[in-house]
Amino acid sequence: MGKVYIRTFGCQMNTYDSERIASIFNEMGFSYTENPEEADFAVINTCSVREKPQQKVKSEIGRLKRVNGIKIGVCGCVAQQEGEKFLDNFKDVSFVFGTDAIGRLYEIIDLVQKGQRVCDTSTNEGEISIPSFSRETSVSAFVTIMKGCDNFCSYCIVPYVRGREKSRKAEEIIREINYLVENGVREITLLGQNVNSYGKNLDENINFPKLLYMVNDIKEVKRIRFVTSHPKDFSDELIEAMIENEKVMPYLHLPLQAGSDNILKKMNRKYSYGEYLEKVAKAKERIPGLALSSDFIVGFPGETDADFEDTLRAIEEIEYETIFAFKYSPRPKTKAFNLEDNIPDDIKSSRLDALLKKQEKITRKLMKKYLGQICEVLVEGMSKKDDSIYSGRNPQNRIVNFKSNKNIKTGDLVSVKIMEAKKNSLFGLSV
Ligand code: SF4
Repeated sequence: MGKVYIRTFGCQMNTYDSERIASIFNEMGFSYTENPEEADFAVINTCSVREKPQQKVKSEIGRLKRVNGIKIGVCGCVAQQEGEKFLDNFKDVSFVFGTDAIGRLYEIIDLVQKGQRVCDTSTNEGEISIPSFSRETSVSAFVTIMKGCDNFCSYCIVPYVRGREKSRKAEEIIREINYLVENGVREITLLGQNVNSYGKNLDENINFPKLLYMVNDIKEVKRIRFVTSHPKDFSDELIEAMIENEKVMPYLHLPLQAGSDNILKKMNRKYSYGEYLEKVAKAKERIPGLALSSDFIVGFPGETDADFEDTLRAIEEIEYETIFAFKYSPRPKTKAFNLEDNIPDDIKSSRLDALLKKQEKITRKLMKKYLGQICEVLVEGMSKKDDSIYSGRNPQNRIVNFKSNKNIKTGDLVSVKIMEAKKNSLFGLSV
């Protein structure tokens, strides 16, 4: 039996795609290995949203090519963008496949095994291929409901490499979720570049809030999460659906990106800070215990000290539990690529640092509010550091490690009293 090693860069969409790639290799008789040294095939799932992960691909190829006889494949956004150029520039790469070609991987692997070098970056304008149903399951699973994006934020490469928005049919999504729960999954994360656009290009009368009701009706599903929501499409109807469907967790990732209207406009985000704040305030007021998270870009072209101050003020005002922040890097093809990248790197770094430091204080303060609370934890297994301690997540997606003398199984929902708030996790006792 051959072995496959997969290295994934980038977002959750890529993580999900890597799972599908692993399951196709599995169906073709390959087992998965964490050790590239023993692999017959290696797949690098690339991300082109920022420059750094793109550079890492080259060093990964350099590392892998030293493994005797290994066949190296490259997929994901960089592969979609570069296509044949990858095969021309990297003689050690045997196959390149795009984001729409995962369903054709069976044929690609077959050709590579016969000694051919293959490039398949053709796009499939039809339905999103149905994920393989043989992937290994755990307590939580991602389910793609749509892909692509029509928003064209000025800094973002996604609409160019992942294409326009395409939604999967609801019945296909429900079928996949039914399969997953039959195999032990209890928490479903609905995944899309902009889940709030779900259904727009389908004939059926469906949108994202309606889909939440359908998933909530599946008996064995215990928890529902979703990423990512675009703030401009975040609606009252969605807030209602989050309240009415008890399995939808009180966690919302709503990327603000910048606190300054001037920068938001240049980013083509299509909302002002005031509009964003209004939506978030309503969601916080209506959804008990809501935890918020967000993405930020610092050092966007033309970002002044005052613009950046607006971002600092925003995180203080909104009080996110978590943020993901990055320094701006220009991406070819995007609109912002034509703007002068005029913020020196040391200023970008110091702004990033200041933002993360401020967030650390906010997170510390918010973690303390869990002390003494009794929360429901979905058990994912034993703690990696200590096998006498159980580990899972609370509704707000925080890791909770806890002790218990009850007979607890993975996938159980357990009530835990929080005794200690650490930097990024909580500790408690089952009650
Ligand atoms: S919403 Fe904007 S940032 Fe998100 S994928 Fe679409 S273009 Fe990119």
